[in-house]
This record gives sequence, structure tokens and C-alpha cells, in this order.
Amino acid sequence: MNSSSALDKIVIIGGGFAGLFTGINLIEKGFDKVIVFEEHKTIGEPRHCAGLVSEKALKMFNLYEDDFVINTVSRARFFSPAGIDFEIEGEKAIVIDRVLFDRFLAEKFESLGGRIVYKRVDRPCFINDTVKGVYLDGDEYCEADLVVDCEGVHSGCRILPMTGLSPPETLLHATQFDIENAFVDDVSHVELHFGREVAPGFFLWLIPLDEKNVRIGVASSDIYKRPPDLLWKFMKHGIRRDMFTIANVKYRFGGLIVASGPIGKTYTSGFLAVGDVAGQVKPTTGGGIFTGGICSIAAAQAIAWAHDYGEYSEKTLSKYEMLWRHILGREFKYMLLARKFLLKMRDHEIDELFKAIRDSGICDRVGRKGDMDLQFRTFMEFIRSPRVTLKILKIMLRRQ
Ligand SMILES: Cc1cc2nc3c(=O)[nH]c(=O)nc-3n(C[C@H](O)[C@H](O)[C@H](O)COP(=O)(O)OP(=O)(O)OC[C@H]3O[C@@H](n4cnc5c(N)ncnc54)[C@H](O)[C@@H]3O)c2cc1C
Repeated sequence: MNSSSALDKIVIIGGGFAGLFTGINLIEKGFDKVIVFEEHKTIGEPRHCAGLVSEKALKMFNLYEDDFVINTVSRARFFSPAGIDFEIEGEKAIVIDRVLFDRFLAEKFESLGGRIVYKRVDRPCFINDTVKGVYLDGDEYCEADLVVDCEGVHSGCRILPMTGLSPPETLLHATQFDIENAFVDDVSHVELHFGREVAPGFFLWLIPLDEKNVRIGVASSDIYKRPPDLLWKFMKHGIRRDMFTIANVKYRFGGLIVASGPIGKTYTSGFLAVGDVAGQVKPTTGGGIFTGGICSIAAAQAIAWAHDYGEYSEKTLSKYEMLWRHILGREFKYMLLARKFLLKMRDHEIDELFKAIRDSGICDRVGRKGDMDLQFRTFMEFIRSPRVTLKILKIMLRRQ
């Protein structure tokens, strides 16, 4: 980047993962006037994330520290509605404390010279159809050469539509309980439970924190099946009820999971959208740390390139979308297809598919060759088994 970069002022809306990581990447690229506006009084709260992320993703982002790691897991067990299960033993995933993690990001950002201002952005400011800054609550104005929107989805995606871009289509309500005094038989595996009674339109997850503490969460697409009710029902009557006989809920939290994949367009003149607000979340699992991280890096790269070109126009910023779609476009496409397929499946079909997977003997290979972050690869490993492929085809034909 050329030296006049010192003059460019970048405003970031939101001090969550995407905002802080984009800020860090921008400073590392040479931008020295990067301001993050955060509407809450502290970073990392309110908490909503389960905190499960692949170790390799955090190491790749250069963000790995032991301090915020709660547990390490390497196996995932998948349960069908009738309790038919299969297990994948694969790469290491870590459970992180999201509050500590976000605060670590904030400290890193500030230690590099970034500024965090605890104020709420009210709206963007336009000059000749180009975003040229933001108005804060109280009509205070902050000018900028470029605005990066990382507002997430929990505040209602307010700013994004004001620029003419469309927010994510599908948001699922999720609830999580941190449970103490649970009987955790194995701290190295997470569980995913599927079915219309357990988790309509998504899945229920169990993440061990240690031998006695477990994080249980669920998202639901059925407005009549509320996530907290689903969790209580699972704990009292589900197939893992023995875990919870003397357990109690220590902490309860939740949030909105983006389940519709990326929005159609993530840039306009003087403005980029990154992270949850741009729908850059895995539609299969709701995980947004890996995908949001890749897009934060792409955003910083595209901004540096646009700076060198001499303008933050719609044309130069389109490079951002080219970059992240180049890396993740196929992933999002196939994860969305997988989600749509799962949504159409009846419970007995999920049972049939899980049985086919378990009996196919493919799980070992999927564990070795699959990838938690790049799920297309995992999907391709599954369909190497003729038994699994045949089952998928049969279910698809029934759905025609
Ligand atoms: C229940 C649940 C479980 C999850 N579990 C996982 C998981 O295990 N692994 C994983 O990878 N991902 C998980 N995710 C997804 C992950 O939490 C998100 O993808 C990630 O945190 C998104 O980061 P973000 O910065 O885009 O948005 P956010 O983290 O929502 O940050 C947005 C920030 O912007 C601020 N803000 C909003 N509007 C304004 C404004 N107008 N002015 C100033 N500030 C503003 C907000 O206060 C907030 O701090 C989960 C999500 C949910 C809901």
C-alpha cells in the first residue's frame, strides 16, 4: 500500500468478532485511523455464541491463545430422531470463552493503534450517493473515507438496508443453557441431535465444557416450538436425559442464527458489509467465526487495493465480493443445498440416512479427509459411499 494511507479514515460499525478482526487486519495493512463504534458499554457482551471453532482456523487467523480455550474436542456424534447415531473422529475443535476471546481481540486492536468508541451508530451519511461517514446517536457526525458495517444481526440489521443492500433472509431463534452438575461421560465429543420434535429446522447441540459442565443449545424454525421449551423437554425426556438428573442451569443465553447464507451483494460506494450482517455464516451449522474471519481478511485486502487505486467506489470495492466468493462461494452454495435437503426430510428419512451412513463404514474416512470449515470436502467424502449416495437419491426422488 502506498504511504498516503495515513490519511484514510475507516469507520467500523460494531465491536464483535467481524468488526474487531477487520480492524486488526486493516491496521496490519497500514491503515492508521481505524475507529470501531460499539453500541454496548463492554466488548463481548451480551454473549450469544456457543464458541465452537476449529483450532486450525484460529491458528490460521493468528488469534490462538490458551487463555480463552475452555475445552478441546475431536469427535462429533450425530443422532437421528430415533436415536440412530454415527460418529466422526476428525480435526481438533476448541470451545472458547467468547467474552474473553472478544476482549482479547479488542486489546489486540487497541494495542496496534485502533480506537474503540462506545457509541451507537444511528445511520450512514451520504455525499453524492457515496457513504462518507456515520451519524451517531445524538446526531454527532463522524466522517470517514470508508465505512465497514459489522453490526451483526442482533440489533435488527438496521444500518445495512439504509445503504440499499438487503439483510439476511432467514434468522433462527436459538437458546443455550450452560449446565452444571451434569454427568458428562466423555469431554472430547460434541453431540448433534436432529428431528422435528428435538429441533425443527435445525439441530440441538451438546458441547462438554468439563466433566460436570455442558453447554446445550438449540435453534428452531417453528414458531410454536420455542428453543427454551425444546431444551427443557430434551433434558427431561430426551435420549440423553440421564446426563441431567441432578443438573441445574447456571447461565442462559441465546441469539439469532443466520441460516440463509450470504446476502446477494456486500458492497456499495464507500461501504462494505462483513460478518453476520452479510450472512457470512455456515448455513448448515450457524458457525460464523471461520467464514466471518475469511471475509474480514478479504475486506482488508480489498480496501487496501481500492486505496492504492485511489477511490473507494462501487467498482473498486467489488473486489471484496470477488475475493470472498472466490474462497467461500462454493462452500456456501453446497452448505445451503445441504440445509435445504435436511429441511425437506421427514424424521424417518433422517433415521434411514443415518443408518446408511453408520453401516457404510465411511465415517473413519470422513474423519480423516473431511474438514469442519470447508464442508464441501466432507460432503464429497460422504457421497463416496454408494450406500449413502443411493439413500440420498432415494430421498430426493421421493421429494420430487
Ligand atoms: C446461539 C449461537 C451460537 C453460535 N455458535 C457458534 C459457534 O459455536 N461457532 C461459530 O463459529 N459461530 C457461532 N455462532 C455465530 C457467531 O457467534 C457469529 O457468526 C459471530 O459472532 C458474528 O460476529 P459479528 O461481528 O458479525 O456480529 P456480532 O458478534 O453480533 O457483533 C456485532 C456487534 O455490533 C454491535 N452493533 C450493532 N449495531 C450497532 C450500531 N448501530 N452501532 C454500534 N454498534 C453496533 C453489536 O453490539 C455487536 O457488538 C453462534 C451464533 C449464535 C446466535
